Amino acid sequence: MIGGPIAFPRFFRRPRRPRFGVAFLFAFICIAMLSVSCSRTKVRKYSRTELMFGTVCRISLVDTSGELDGDAALEETFSRLADIEKRISRTQAGSEISSVNGQAGTAPVAVSEETYELVKTALQYARLTDGAFNPAIGPLVSLWGINTETAKVPSDEEISRVLPLLDWREVVLDDVERSIFLPRQGMSLDLGGIGKGYAADVAKATLRRFGASSALVNLGGNILVIGTKPDGEAWRIGLQDPDSSRGEFFLSVSLTDGTVVTSGPYERYFVQDGVRYHHILDASTGYPAVTHIASVTIVGADSTGADALSTAAFVLGVEPSLALLRTLPGVEAVFLMDDGTIRMSEGLADDASRWRLATDRYSVKLGD
Ligand code: ADP
Ligand code: MG
Repeated sequence: MIGGPIAFPRFFRRPRRPRFGVAFLFAFICIAMLSVSCSRTKVRKYSRTELMFGTVCRISLVDTSGELDGDAALEETFSRLADIEKRISRTQAGSEISSVNGQAGTAPVAVSEETYELVKTALQYARLTDGAFNPAIGPLVSLWGINTETAKVPSDEEISRVLPLLDWREVVLDDVERSIFLPRQGMSLDLGGIGKGYAADVAKATLRRFGASSALVNLGGNILVIGTKPDGEAWRIGLQDPDSSRGEFFLSVSLTDGTVVTSGPYERYFVQDGVRYHHILDASTGYPAVTHIASVTIVGADSTGADALSTAAFVLGVEPSLALLRTLPGVEAVFLMDDGTIRMSEGLADDASRWRLATDRYSVKLGD
């Protein structure tokens, strides 16, 4: 994911042919002084990988100050992530979200401030995307058995029975009681399309509290970076080529203090009668979203929003997504289309220093 080797600062390179003895001596003294100061501020790297949110989560951080307790920072961050998963998982019995879902049609459920705020944010993204991102999509996700062994194509009757249960506008939030109420029995929240982004933002806040100034958080491809690489260069994040074995990129994006979140139909899907059914569902049809997008990546500052928007963009399609992004300053997108063309939002299209094509299999299409 991270770009090439850490570049050695120019300053450290030995002058190839010193013309004057004095200049050579001066350079030698500088190098000696720098080596001494570098050995005092040792660069220490820390990283840890865990399986969470149904995926591989890895956090790496670098300390150049000599003052960061990296192990403690990782310990606390992973414990915060475990806590989030325990509260927002739809499938773990006893989570706050399963309690809310279990009380659908019966009673409101008071939840922690964090869960409440996340659901509130999720509903704001539902409004912003006109329901393309729909946190009340739970019943449809269950019906398709998305992410389970028993995934299958439901009957038309089953789909029409579930569609009236997907109305996110009906979710009742009570700011005073901090409770969530799903008014119809059978309704359920699913935060799978926003949870990892939220977790990445919480990881950022936790790491920052420990004083981290250079870190990479990768929650199953949902990426967030703090600061720059230790050498002061921007991080370079590779966007996965959906057509190649894992690890091959089609484009890289340079990133400082930001997030890159990708959604695509290639990650989780099942095949029935030769047809591929993927995990991003369109609540207006009851079926997996039909678009010509092979993958969509949102680049921005806030990972919660980028996660919701990447899921929404896939449902909306390219043109409506680009129109929406024009209203959101600082949020950009890269679309890889089924025909091999790459489309970008204007902020990226206009600034070629922020990205680099990594293959000649695809071509960038700028403008309309
Ligand atoms: P991933 O979790 O694979 O990175 P996404 O962020 O796009 O991908 O989220 C997909 C998950 O979100 C699905 O597995 C499902 O739980 C949920 N989901 C599916 N369709 C929608 C939708 N239209 N709006 C909100 N969440 C959705
Ligand atoms: Mg998402």
